[in-house]
Amino acid sequence: MNMEAIKIENLKKIYKGGTHALKGIDLQVGTGDFFALLGANGAGKTTIIGILTGTVNKTGGKAFIHGMDIDKVHDTIKRDVGIVPQEFNFNIFEKVEDIVVTQAGFYGLKRHEALKRAEKILKDLNLWDKRHQKSMSLSGGMKRRLMIARALIHEPKLLILDEPTAGVDVELRHGMWEYLTELNKSGVTILLTTHYIEEAEQLCRNVAIIKEGEIVKTGSVKELLTTIDKQTYVVEVDQIASHVKLDDFKWSVLDDRTVEVEVDQKKTLNNFITCLDKEGILVRDLRPKGNRLEKLFLNILNS
Ligand code: ATP
Repeated sequence: MNMEAIKIENLKKIYKGGTHALKGIDLQVGTGDFFALLGANGAGKTTIIGILTGTVNKTGGKAFIHGMDIDKVHDTIKRDVGIVPQEFNFNIFEKVEDIVVTQAGFYGLKRHEALKRAEKILKDLNLWDKRHQKSMSLSGGMKRRLMIARALIHEPKLLILDEPTAGVDVELRHGMWEYLTELNKSGVTILLTTHYIEEAEQLCRNVAIIKEGEIVKTGSVKELLTTIDKQTYVVEVDQIASHVKLDDFKWSVLDDRTVEVEVDQKKTLNNFITCLDKEGILVRDLRPKGNRLEKLFLNILNS
């Protein structure tokens, strides 16, 4: 039987002070899926993850992980789940390798086995060179990868990430996306929260859109994104791009360091970035012109 990795029924959360963070959420994430909880700040994403991972007490409803009721067997469930919270929560004075190996100890792994696994994971995540450094010396992107390494040391079947690329620059974000995609291909179910549509688009098969504590839509990412057709992006580059000819794209130069491109479903933003890269122009930052998430919400609510 293909058990749901996560099943949530009528989940509710009212915080002290009266905020109705979750207003009765139903959600299912299939085993092997790559699933995004997509929503703006304050929509309720972190609250859902907190309930699933046992750091937030729900006010009502039920949640199951791999068919097990989180109210009954939370400790057993934890062995199958890796968690990457939004905030860095490792000891900043501890060395990178020690952080990962110590975590393995919580799951009863023998030290030699933990060291072996840590070597593989740290190499895969490009942190091996930093293994003897204190975590405080890492960059933001490295710290984020260390959080992922630590969450994977016990080889969980389900990985839950709360905004994995917050504060990670464009280049590193793509590297992390590739890593997570490979991990999912190897059979790990992944649930992540994001407020970047682009992240859901690049990574995930299925998505639930959450707004003010309610799921407003669930479905395949492809299906949902066909509701937004064209989108303009503002792209910051490292040098003047006016000499470049990229006739396949509808784009214009705004100033020395900024260009604007309109993309549709076929000619994606990634193709544009790759083409710029081939011309020797590096993308420093990019942002949608206007808010795609808001546009998607408007389309959903008006449909
Ligand atoms: P973000 O993207 O900013 O992390 P989110 O979608 O994860 O947002 P939550 O953090 O789940 O949203 O918050 C949902 C609502 O619950 C918000 O209105 C928030 O202010 C409120 N909230 C969250 N944590 C608490 C808390 N500990 N006490 C009181 N209210 C809270």
